[in-house]
Amino acid sequence: MNLTSDNIAPAHPAVLEALAAANSGPARPYGHDEENARVEALLSDVFEKPVAAFLVTTGTAANALSLAQMTPPWGAVIGHEEAHVMHDECGAPEFFTNGAKIVGAPGLDGKLTTETFGGLLGRDFWTPPTHVTPAALTLSQATEAGTVYRPAEIGALSEIARGRRIRVHMDGARFANAVASTHASPADLTWRSGVEALSFGFTKNGAMAAEAIVLFAEDLIQNLAERRKRGGHTWSKGRFIAAQIAALLEGGLWLDLARSANARAAELALGLEARGLRTAFPVEANEVFVWLPAALHEALKARGAGYYVWTSESIAPERAGGDGEVIARMIASFATTGAEVQTALTEIDAALAVAAPRKRAPRPLGAPLF
Ligand SMILES: *Cc1c(COP(=O)(O)O)cnc(C)c1O
Repeated sequence: MNLTSDNIAPAHPAVLEALAAANSGPARPYGHDEENARVEALLSDVFEKPVAAFLVTTGTAANALSLAQMTPPWGAVIGHEEAHVMHDECGAPEFFTNGAKIVGAPGLDGKLTTETFGGLLGRDFWTPPTHVTPAALTLSQATEAGTVYRPAEIGALSEIARGRRIRVHMDGARFANAVASTHASPADLTWRSGVEALSFGFTKNGAMAAEAIVLFAEDLIQNLAERRKRGGHTWSKGRFIAAQIAALLEGGLWLDLARSANARAAELALGLEARGLRTAFPVEANEVFVWLPAALHEALKARGAGYYVWTSESIAPERAGGDGEVIARMIASFATTGAEVQTALTEIDAALAVAAPRKRAPRPLGAPLF
């Protein structure tokens, strides 16, 4: 059993085939190639309007570069307090924005709400020049908790942002899983709900290393080419990033893969619940956060089971864990099979047999032996 992350998955065969196909003859360098133009056309199709796309190879670069387009160094980027940009990018957003301040707001299930975002904006520490000025809102879709925002939720947050001239960014490292989960259109989940730039992740969903900064607001294009180059993220053989993304967009493969990952996570969650285990967050995409009693966790670790132990301040009171319980984060990828989910559940059964042996009903006194 290894469900530590969706980035332990291999690259999808279609991606490797596209790389091989792109590997013939010369192509114009630095993103001026045919593949890059094809990606922009495919993305414009997906989003139902012409979009600009800047391709990079890590989600961290996509987030940091997008946010740098939105904020001055004296600005604040507001995100969920447990967001990837806050904790998992080693200060890249601060570095690329030349020192903008990243400010976290709370919210259950990894999501900001109009109350928590509006509440933060309502605090009295936003007076220039003493304080930083709110400049960008960043929403993770799907969230760090494996939950998803609905278009109406994004729209309501964007409306507050727009009222304060705050730009809206979406960290879509798992955007595909969110689209598959909500059945909403990519357009409704982004620009029609006020999102102006999207870090559209492909790596976790089948690429080898490919992410697209998708811009819906034309003014955000200005100087992004220079910013990407200056940051060392402009590939001279850019066709190889583009080829990966084109392979996934072509024919809607990206959505098929995300649907598969989400379905495997849902099967896993059902199996865990059938064994009396409870989840810490609603399972809405490809991530499952399950409470494990300490003995079960120990038994699973002893068997070499692969998952991460998670902590979060964002758990709803009715989903709180019991004494000594730990949260295990288990993620299904596009490559996870139904058989692997069954193997995981079998492992858990074996660990449960050690950790919580089923008590036999004692034989009533005086009852006949046979
Ligand atoms: C994986 C991930 C990223 C991108 O991470 P990289 O390792 O830089 O590619 C960004 N945001 C979220 C929410 C992620 O899960």
